[in-house]
Amino acid sequence: MEFDVVVVGAGLSGSVAAREFAERGKRVLVVERHRHVAGHCHDYRDDAGITVHTYGPHIFHTVDAEVWRYVRRFSEFSSYQHRVLSYADGNLVPFPINRLTINQVFGLALSSEEVAAFLEAEREASDLPETSANYRDAVVAQVGERLYAMFFRNYTRKQWNREPEELAPELAGRIPVRTNADTRYFVDPYQGLPLHGYTRLVENLLDHPGISLLLGADWFEAKDFHAPLTVFTGELDRFFDYRFGKLEYRSLSLDFRTLDVESFQEASVVNYPNDYEWTRITEFKKLTGERSPKTTILYEYPKAEGEPYYVVPSKTNTEMRERYMVEVKRLEEKGSHLFIGRLAEYKYYNMDQAIKSALSKARSVV
Ligand code: UDP
Repeated sequence: MEFDVVVVGAGLSGSVAAREFAERGKRVLVVERHRHVAGHCHDYRDDAGITVHTYGPHIFHTVDAEVWRYVRRFSEFSSYQHRVLSYADGNLVPFPINRLTINQVFGLALSSEEVAAFLEAEREASDLPETSANYRDAVVAQVGERLYAMFFRNYTRKQWNREPEELAPELAGRIPVRTNADTRYFVDPYQGLPLHGYTRLVENLLDHPGISLLLGADWFEAKDFHAPLTVFTGELDRFFDYRFGKLEYRSLSLDFRTLDVESFQEASVVNYPNDYEWTRITEFKKLTGERSPKTTILYEYPKAEGEPYYVVPSKTNTEMRERYMVEVKRLEEKGSHLFIGRLAEYKYYNMDQAIKSALSKARSVV
């Protein structure tokens, strides 16, 4: 059979791209290394009847009305609003830092205006260079050294195995700081979880007569799927045979436990910035609202080797990425390839950003 497009990877990015091409009359072959679709947002119902996220917790959130409309073509969404607690100095406090956090950790009763002044004083009492170009300085410039040390420094060391000084300041953009008492992790106007799971959502994306799906096939081992266009969603450096060197990815050891208790912790996610080896514990029934006499929890231990989950925002990687991106641009302009998603664009995308990139890149060629 002849195909117009070969898509490498059946994750969110690849599946959205495949759908776009199929809906425009193209014959699309999707080749996936794993024996399941949905990539790193794969989920399944476990023996306790609880939907767990195979590769760690995924919460959908976006400010983009078009992306929100798009995903809801393929699944209904719950109205779940993500809330996280952080285990700091022996207490569970709301995170990201907001008025309640500051009042709890410092034993104060500040109003929102007073919190703003408090943070200003914290910053002034901190060691901050004139210009800041790393993650440590970017966080200290928001909350000062004391809160940085309480919530960010050690979590970041665990997560990235780097000193925060070696990481890009943009990373700080992921975690807001609030002077009000909004305890949500995300304040995006559109937020929720797909009611029947991410796997089902991706299956629905791929459910189109123009799409053929090949599971358990590593495209790198058998590249002879020829088509005028290849959409690549795997690791950027591997595609180019590591021509400019190896980009770093961060992986996780994921330890799932089903416990014979109805509830394990107070929130769906608890972060552990300073204590223990894990970064966070997720209790899935509190994400999904499922009921069960048991509960399934997940401990995350960051590690260097293994399935690539994260791109590492260091200077070396960012510079190496730029060199690969020149090659990407060349192939994309030629019209033979598209590179989409967290791994292929080497970008710390959230799910909505990956979808947006897939939609705009696919639409730019059809
Ligand atoms: N972070 C932190 N303390 C926390 C949570 C996050 O220092 O309690 C920092 C850390 O460097 C982390 C980054 O913020 O890697 C991004 O966190 P996010 O929760 O967005 O990570 P993800 O859910 O993508 O793993």
